[in-house]
Amino acid sequence: MLDLMLLIQAPVPALTEPASRIGGAPLADGDRVWPHCARCDGPMQFLGQLRAPGAKSAAGHLVTMFMCQNNPGMCEEWDAEAGGNAVWIQPARAGSLLAAPTRGVTRLASSYGLEAVAVTASGYDDAFGEWRAKHGADGRRAMGGLFGEPSWIQADETPACDACRQPMRFVAQLEEGPDMNFGGGCAYVFDCACGADRGKMVWQQ
Ligand SMILES: [Zn+2]
Ligand SMILES: [Zn+2]
Repeated sequence: MLDLMLLIQAPVPALTEPASRIGGAPLADGDRVWPHCARCDGPMQFLGQLRAPGAKSAAGHLVTMFMCQNNPGMCEEWDAEAGGNAVWIQPARAGSLLAAPTRGVTRLASSYGLEAVAVTASGYDDAFGEWRAKHGADGRRAMGGLFGEPSWIQADETPACDACRQPMRFVAQLEEGPDMNFGGGCAYVFDCACGADRGKMVWQQ
């Protein structure tokens, strides 16, 4: 059996708090600037941020995810290395929100909070299925999971860290949201035990 946390749809938290949510504007530490796509040069879309309870500190860290949606399907936004998505790893602390650039597809239309609910299951798919069976179609939706192990749709695509070159640590698996598109599949998000401030994301369908 595996300990993991399901990410359950919840009310939107205060935007300046380092809480897990999809949509809105990103909390940004220090002098971070809005990421741009390496393929089309347009500003990426902010997907959301996940609070990962921490190996590095009790407060944990914040995993902030972006993906290019200026030309959906044309910027290899599913690939961990192509520069069509971006993941920041930053300290989990309250801060200021980064304003989106005025051009490009930068914001999701919808936003919701994500509450992490600890479960024990044989894996992500079981945990997900059990939640759905127990809470029904009208219950709060499971939108993904934190930690545990990735449930790959295709082959294992665990990326290597740019800083230390080691295989990265799996942080989260995300389901598609109301206007967040992973080609009908799932996104997989990684950070690194070395403390690199750049995470990676890959999605499969
Ligand atoms: Zn692009
Ligand atoms: Zn590393």
